[in-house]
Amino acid sequence: MIWQGVISQYKKYLPVSDKTPVITLQEGNTPLLYSSFLSREVGSGFSVYLKFEGANPTGSFKDRGMTLAVSKAVEEGSKGVICASTGNTSASAAAYSAKAGIKCVVLIPKGAIAKGKLTQALFHGAKVIAVDGNFDDCFEIVKKITENYPITMVNSINPNRIEGQKTGAFEICDYLKSAPCFHFIPVGNAGNITAYWKGYNEYFRAGEITRLPHMLGFQAAGAAPIVKGEKVDNPETIATAIRIGNPASWQSAVKAQEESKGVIESVTDQEIIEAYKLIPSHDGIFVEPASAASVAGLLKLIRRGFFKDVENGNIVCVLTGHGLKDPDIALEEAQAPVVVGPDLDKIVELIF
Ligand SMILES: *Cc1c(COP(=O)(O)O)cnc(C)c1O
Repeated sequence: MIWQGVISQYKKYLPVSDKTPVITLQEGNTPLLYSSFLSREVGSGFSVYLKFEGANPTGSFKDRGMTLAVSKAVEEGSKGVICASTGNTSASAAAYSAKAGIKCVVLIPKGAIAKGKLTQALFHGAKVIAVDGNFDDCFEIVKKITENYPITMVNSINPNRIEGQKTGAFEICDYLKSAPCFHFIPVGNAGNITAYWKGYNEYFRAGEITRLPHMLGFQAAGAAPIVKGEKVDNPETIATAIRIGNPASWQSAVKAQEESKGVIESVTDQEIIEAYKLIPSHDGIFVEPASAASVAGLLKLIRRGFFKDVENGNIVCVLTGHGLKDPDIALEEAQAPVVVGPDLDKIVELIF
């Protein structure tokens, strides 16, 4: 059967009916790639898979939640949606709103979102408002607006976002025919770790899987409120998608960590950049810096000897967004190309 998007595929697990107008860009069904490089790094008995969410229509996992959030907004008669965003939520909200023919408003921290994401939001026709403040400021304002005006909030405190995003867990289990032992994931506003944990639990209760994974969430060291146990007023990291000081789903992320006997830790920007460079060079996929936090977390636990005394099995790292959205840091890290004239001999010399 041809893939029709996550609502069509998983409707029996989602809050939809035959009357729900399905607004889809055929998101989901993203690659789950075996990484021989990372499997080798962990050691024998372990298989590492990369869930490449950059392959979604707008280039991030946000599409899984946005298809449901926008479909439900339209079903409820809403004329528009609004969100605060570090970039990808706005790109996704703008695209699904365009498809639905409804208004989209996004508040972004001025100068702090990647160019590709800003371009997407603008080009899909959203009303983009750059706020001279950070994500947390934008989020507070959006909350107040939606309490007082007729516009639907599509940040991940909208439960439909979490519902849609849990389909990532279903796909992993469908593909592996079981749940992984360890699930690595970047943590920003903490909606996605919440959604995956919900998805695994629902599949468990439905008898689709017979075990649950340990959830291993990673924040950026300069934006690690959950790890520190307190809000961070001025979060700082190169991984702009997870530059968040007061996560909306803080409690449910801690719950996922505790119930699954997992961890929520932090990785430094240096560790993020290391993983950010390793993934494309070994596995052939280009991710954005925030996405590399999951693999940075895996490498950190490998170095600590974490996998020496745990049961063998499958490890999944979620790669949340596409690298093309944010090439600036990549260009700083990459070696500039060699420049020569149209000189055959010189070029041959450079190659061999
Ligand atoms: C939104 C986002 C995250 C963080 O997800 P949360 O649900 O906010 O924890 C991580 N990586 C990318 C690329 C994102 O767009």
